[in-house]
Amino acid sequence: MNFPTDLFAGLRFAVVGLGKNGLPVARRLVAMGATVIAWDDTAAARAAAIGLDVRMPEMARLDALVLSPGIPHRLPRPHPIAAMAIAAGVPILSDVELLYRAVRRAGSQARFVGITGTNGKSTTTALLAHIIAGTGRPVAAGGNLGVAALDLPLLGDDGIYVIEMSSYMLERLATLRFNAAVMLNLSPDHLDRHGDMAGYARAKRAIFDRQTDGDLAVVGIEDDLSRAMAAELQAVTIAGQRRADFWADGTLLQDKTGVIVDLAQARALPGAHNAQNAAAASAMALHLGLSRAEIAAGIISYPGLPHRQEDVGSIAGVRFINDSKATNADSTARAMVCYDRFILIAGGQAKDGGILPLATYFPRIALALLIGRDAPVLAATLAEHGVPHRCVGTLAEATEQAWQAARDGVAPVVLLSPACASWDQFTGFDQRGDMFRDQVAAIKLREGV
Ligand code: ADP
Repeated sequence: MNFPTDLFAGLRFAVVGLGKNGLPVARRLVAMGATVIAWDDTAAARAAAIGLDVRMPEMARLDALVLSPGIPHRLPRPHPIAAMAIAAGVPILSDVELLYRAVRRAGSQARFVGITGTNGKSTTTALLAHIIAGTGRPVAAGGNLGVAALDLPLLGDDGIYVIEMSSYMLERLATLRFNAAVMLNLSPDHLDRHGDMAGYARAKRAIFDRQTDGDLAVVGIEDDLSRAMAAELQAVTIAGQRRADFWADGTLLQDKTGVIVDLAQARALPGAHNAQNAAAASAMALHLGLSRAEIAAGIISYPGLPHRQEDVGSIAGVRFINDSKATNADSTARAMVCYDRFILIAGGQAKDGGILPLATYFPRIALALLIGRDAPVLAATLAEHGVPHRCVGTLAEATEQAWQAARDGVAPVVLLSPACASWDQFTGFDQRGDMFRDQVAAIKLREGV
């Protein structure tokens, strides 16, 4: 279903930041009948906004400013246009807020699910959408990852929007109420934008704002900050201990009614972190009216997202795992715990502490092949701990050497989990992962398997 072309007639919006989010949002608002003034500080982005009214917006008669999530309106300092909007009393909104308004204006009572947390947002969003889609119910997923929220189709009353929410988007809501929402976990991130951990937690907590009786709030309780948030939200306590309503005992995902699914069958959801994601998705799916059998089937058949412990093939019994999304040590730890012995490809632009936080898992590394700018930094840490390693420069070289070592029996798994940002050698983690996948395919071809 399409949104009516006069839905926002008479309304005036400024859309600032014309990237992956802003450009489709501006076009969609025009298609809904709104008057839209579009702006980007870079000339190239302005030039790409063909057909839009591109100019510096003035605040008079503006109903809202839609600011791209990457542009701050508070910290570290407000963008000048955001400062103008605040001074003029013009609301600054996320496009998710506008999606909600558009859906309601179009007369649909479709439900909204919001997903946030420092880690696991994309996985939980994709997993829940997959579970719902498998039952034949109308579902649309997007937001922070994938399709911009306002670019999603109009769903009818039986439809469900599953929206991945970043902390930036959560700061720009006004009326959107999530029928089910989850805050998965909290660890330090984006503190430049939120001031401190308290500010970051406050932004995340906003996912539960405006919820009323009959709505579901799910909070992960694996870390102290999230536990504190759950307590604030008056989660159930038993004898002073907060009790999880959904938990995993080994690989058995369960609630008080019993086992929902054995996660050992869910090949695309390895590790305890994915048990948390699956538990959150199950809680929300049950609330949305899905059966336990439907949820189990969806979890088992979930295909996974690229670059998150993605199995990109096996050659002569050697498995190649693309975990390029792991841009810090914490994420790499989630992957390392899943394999007893492996050849690690890591490196790039290291975060504070490099790979030292992974020392517990060093005995599992049969050989580390280091790439990118900070390879020497990682090499120094590995040398101190007696872990075999080589600095090899490029990913192509690392993949080749990893295959040769694996073929010689060094380890049965090659794991690309860099624990570093990719910007020194790639346009992003996705390009890094795509190259690895292509290289594995090329080796496969060469080896005739
Ligand atoms: P996000 O969208 O929040 O960045 P993803 O689902 O893309 O999260 O996962 C990114 C990485 O974060 C994964 O590769 C994994 O290393 C780690 N991760 C995923 N889920 C969790 C979780 N529930 N808790 C902690 N870490 C997680």
